[in-house]
Amino acid sequence: MEFVSKKIKKHNFFAGPAILPAPVLEEAARAIQDFEGMGLSILEISHRSKQFESVMNEAEELTRSLLGLTDDYAVLFLTGGASSQFYMSAMNLLPQDGKAGYVNTGAWSTKAIKEAKLFGQISEVASSVDTNFNYIPKGYDIDEDFTFLHVTSNNTIFGTQFQSFPETNVPLVCDMSSDIFSRPLDINRFGMIYAGAQKNLGPAGVTLVIIRKDMLGKVDRAIPTMLDYNTHIKKQSAFNTPPAYPIYVSMLTMRWLKANGGLSAMEAKNKEKAALLYKEIDENPLFKGTAAKEDRSLMNVTFVMNQEALQDDFMKACEAEGCVGVKGHRSVGGFRASIYNAMPIESVEVLVQVMRRFAEQHA
Ligand SMILES: *Cc1c(COP(=O)(O)O)cnc(C)c1O
Repeated sequence: MEFVSKKIKKHNFFAGPAILPAPVLEEAARAIQDFEGMGLSILEISHRSKQFESVMNEAEELTRSLLGLTDDYAVLFLTGGASSQFYMSAMNLLPQDGKAGYVNTGAWSTKAIKEAKLFGQISEVASSVDTNFNYIPKGYDIDEDFTFLHVTSNNTIFGTQFQSFPETNVPLVCDMSSDIFSRPLDINRFGMIYAGAQKNLGPAGVTLVIIRKDMLGKVDRAIPTMLDYNTHIKKQSAFNTPPAYPIYVSMLTMRWLKANGGLSAMEAKNKEKAALLYKEIDENPLFKGTAAKEDRSLMNVTFVMNQEALQDDFMKACEAEGCVGVKGHRSVGGFRASIYNAMPIESVEVLVQVMRRFAEQHA
């Protein structure tokens, strides 16, 4: 599988569900017709068939090898989206009288905090709400007694990203929904990582959960079977019917990641793409970035236009060149170009050209 498909139809800048690698989509389409020469679609086979079990095993193995996970970590493929992990993480990890810290860097963190408060004592250790979440807070105290510190590694809506994670011995619980597998990680810092697949990993419908097993077994509240991580660990994510097709497509994406050099290679490509776009934003007289420069996301590039009256015309100019999904989230306004792993640099170059030409016509 090659890195860039020659068959780009649109330049897909949507934030999520989002772009997938073209060779992954081709293979996923074939599997809907006939999976592994079975004469059956992958959509119509048992999740207990040996063919599907091999998909599950490969998905887990690829997750382990990409991140360098030891057997101390369990890998789960669950349903309910990242949003269900907001409460499941606290429910499973945090004793009723326990304390956890949360860094509030955006809408998703705010939701995670609300849910966690149902299960223990939650301290918001830092927040960037004062400036509409346009930076990542730094230099705050982290209580050594926290059971965990929750961070959102990349803020999909506001276009900020932790360039390095807080220095602490407290295990991190991290919502990595929009930058999982975008860069290498020091995995030992993390007690748990979760990610809805539909940003940087696969289609909507599956949530990847990575959990260090020693984080579990510390709560004595009653937990419904389906919400208990131990249920899914014991049954390797097949206690009930797992989201088979989203897992399959995520597995194909991980194969593609590995074949294209793994996380270091992804990071290099991601940096190159982001640098190209941020350079244009900084040089172009019509546009301005919204995130603090040192915290800029490599995944979601947010920017606004100095002349609001031209906004709709710019959107039309984008669409005329096949650049779709560039509209900003309503809470930031302006524009957002999501440039996940699967986004080829050629698409970013097209967007940069559109911006440049638009400025020449209107500045
Ligand atoms: C999209 C997103 C979510 C929500 O994911 P769902 O799977 O829709 O629940 C949570 N956190 C972050 C960082 C996201 O980007």
